[in-house]
Amino acid sequence: MIDRERMTSFVMELMRTDSLSKEEDKVAALLANALREIGAEVRVDDAGASVGGATGNVIARLPGTRPDAAPLLLNSHMDTVPPGRGVKPLREDGRIRSDGTTILGGDDKSGVAVIVEVLRTLRDRGLPHGDVEVAFTICEEIGLLGAKQLDLAGLRAREALVLDAPSPAELVVKAPSADRFEFTVHGVAAHAGMAPELGLSAVRVAAQAITAMPLGRIDAQTTSNVIVTYGGGAANVVPDRCVIAGEARSHDDAKLDSVTSAIRRSLQDAAAAATVTIDGTTTRAWLEERCEREYVRMDVAASTPLVKLVLDAARALSKPMETVTIGGGSDANVFNAKGMPAVILGTGMREIHTVNEWLDLGDFYACAEIVLQALTSRAA
Ligand SMILES: [Zn+2]
Repeated sequence: MIDRERMTSFVMELMRTDSLSKEEDKVAALLANALREIGAEVRVDDAGASVGGATGNVIARLPGTRPDAAPLLLNSHMDTVPPGRGVKPLREDGRIRSDGTTILGGDDKSGVAVIVEVLRTLRDRGLPHGDVEVAFTICEEIGLLGAKQLDLAGLRAREALVLDAPSPAELVVKAPSADRFEFTVHGVAAHAGMAPELGLSAVRVAAQAITAMPLGRIDAQTTSNVIVTYGGGAANVVPDRCVIAGEARSHDDAKLDSVTSAIRRSLQDAAAAATVTIDGTTTRAWLEERCEREYVRMDVAASTPLVKLVLDAARALSKPMETVTIGGGSDANVFNAKGMPAVILGTGMREIHTVNEWLDLGDFYACAEIVLQALTSRAA
């Protein structure tokens, strides 16, 4: 049903248009034009101003030919991760890849292109459909910021299909909650050779804390990771500052709370135990903390009409599909947290966030056929 060549050349045009997070304006303008040309009502919200970006979310509605069919929201994000400037997509052997110096941006321009192609096909072939709403979001890669700003009350749809995963044979219904944190350990600086006894090493305090932290795979549902983002200046100075950043994720919020608390406690204990006494005055290491719940877990039941709709669409096309759990967050977490059931469908993107990223064209076309089938079957 869909026009494979049209959607392939469109996704390559999107890939060639830079859209790092907060710099999605060129892609947003291109998409607003494409959507208007299809006949959709298009607007750009004020999310860009709220997050300090060059554009807001692009929101559109293609009025249904069957007003009684329940509306559906289709979502993909416009932004890409670095290195993402000057992408040169190359097509070969059923795939598109980058030239090896940048990411490809199939995450998530493949989803964006699927949505545009589905709308074009609905229009060109005069297929029956309910209202189709579109949200092309900004700043997904830096904390789901566009989705968080999106006003769902202004939409008619009460369910969302998010196109932002690898395989169209897997429908993502479950994803974890995540905490993001940054701790700054403060010590006391001193000359490392002349008077180390007058110093209190923030790096040493951080190191002791890190060895005591729960890290890596905690259990089947829970993970955590820390990195050191600052560890002192000159090698001849006892470092008075060390910054540790990290994250923890879990499908169980109580476990997430306990892991993040244990990480905080490791730092508090190490800081409390580190002291230096100079001229009778004892100084202790101290901590600054920034910690936030970046996104909240999603778990869409198999009995939800939306899950059934997508699984039935795949079955009608004789394509395999099963529901799966993933370990990462996406805009779908935000929609679910706001009370709108949302599931994530794969678009063919592979090895994302690396310079080896590629797009499987077979999966890319399959995704479009499944979304089209879901929309038309709803209006049947
Ligand atoms: Zn993505």
